[in-house]
Amino acid sequence: MRKIQMKTPIVEMDGDEMTRILWRVIKDKLLLPHIDLKTEYYDLGLLYRNETGDAVTARAAEAVKRLGVGVKCATITPNRQRMEEYPQLTQMWPSPNATIRSILDGTVFRTPIVIDCIRPAVRNWERPITIARHAYGDIYKAAEMRTREPGECVMTFRGKSGREETLSVQSVPGPAIWQGVHNKESSIRGFARACFSYAVSMKQDLWFSSKDTISKVYDGCFKEIFEDEFRSFKSEFERLGITYFYTLIDDAVARVIRSKGGYIWACKNYDGDVMSDMVSVAFGSLAMMTSVLVSPDGEYEFEAAHGTVTQHYYKHLKGERTSTNPMATIFAWTGALRKRGELDGVPELTEYADRLEKACLDTLTSGIMTRDLVLLTEPGFNATAVSSDEFIETVASRLCRNAPL
Ligand code: NAP
Ligand code: MG
Repeated sequence: MRKIQMKTPIVEMDGDEMTRILWRVIKDKLLLPHIDLKTEYYDLGLLYRNETGDAVTARAAEAVKRLGVGVKCATITPNRQRMEEYPQLTQMWPSPNATIRSILDGTVFRTPIVIDCIRPAVRNWERPITIARHAYGDIYKAAEMRTREPGECVMTFRGKSGREETLSVQSVPGPAIWQGVHNKESSIRGFARACFSYAVSMKQDLWFSSKDTISKVYDGCFKEIFEDEFRSFKSEFERLGITYFYTLIDDAVARVIRSKGGYIWACKNYDGDVMSDMVSVAFGSLAMMTSVLVSPDGEYEFEAAHGTVTQHYYKHLKGERTSTNPMATIFAWTGALRKRGELDGVPELTEYADRLEKACLDTLTSGIMTRDLVLLTEPGFNATAVSSDEFIETVASRLCRNAPL
């Protein structure tokens, strides 16, 4: 069988623990037999990040900027406990995802993988809901303070020109807490453009919600920038028959619950953090959530939404066969291959991504799945829990059966 030829490499970012093990199996069983896989490989495993003083993470992100498409395995973000587990670490290195996000200035889109035998907790949801989360600023880059006596807090902006603007936040009669948050106009514009471009590429409606009735300047600015950026996408939206719709966050929540799904919901940083967990669990599980970071310049980085599944890795090290769900990691690869195929004009690659996804979904629908999913299936559905290796083997043989002649 002739292997599919690629034009431009995909940036491949390897990771840690159980997902690193799955990464290898997915490549060996599902990709390399069918594709003459061209990747530019970066090892983002914790030990190599440490060895390079984390320079490898920035190099990988720069490579995504250069080549346009990347796929990333889950990675350990070290904390105190990890410093004890890996005594060779010279620093508590930052989250690679945060580093990559800040270099690509991206927006994170998370979409659940939906199958018939696992019904969402919200019964009327028929199609996946994608959360687009702004990944810069607000409370995630806040200055906080706790005070113990009566007094007044003022906020001062000191311009480069020397001009100052001062505002009284509040006078308080006793102990109080304070928080200074900010966002950058450039980042909000990038967020808006990434959302509109993604809606166009998915041919889906875009909703955006905030609380501009209360936060008239801050959230009002988000709303204004979205309206402004929409002007250059309006005709494309009309051509595709899709709409842009702004509403207040509380109204959006009510509408989302009553909806049939099938749209993109753009959320500010905190709203996106909370709502993406709500949406993923209501659809089934974090192990079935795909995630893609899209930069304002149209670079794409695909990954699974879950972590390195540490508990399963420890079992794997003891020689146990684990039933870790590889779906989101496989779909990170298919997302990257499909996008590469689209950008390079290689329809075989795009078609292969579709076929691999179908083989995965057909395997699940036939009742063969990892343990996490068996627990979620509808009553009466006949499901068998298999190991990760067995699941991937089953997908591989289904893929060969479904191969085009
Ligand atoms: P996690 O790896 O997502 O796992 C949490 C639990 O969720 C697992 O113990 C497992 O539950 C279940 N789970 C997650 N993915 C699964 C899968 N594919 N198949 C089956 N079950 C799955 O989160 P964590 O334990 O909080 O974090 C572990 C490490 O991952 C940390 O070092 C963290 O820094 C890193 N992390 C990385 C990323 C990323 O790179 N994008 C994201 C989050 C966390 P059971 O044990 O009950 O089976
Ligand atoms: Mg969160």
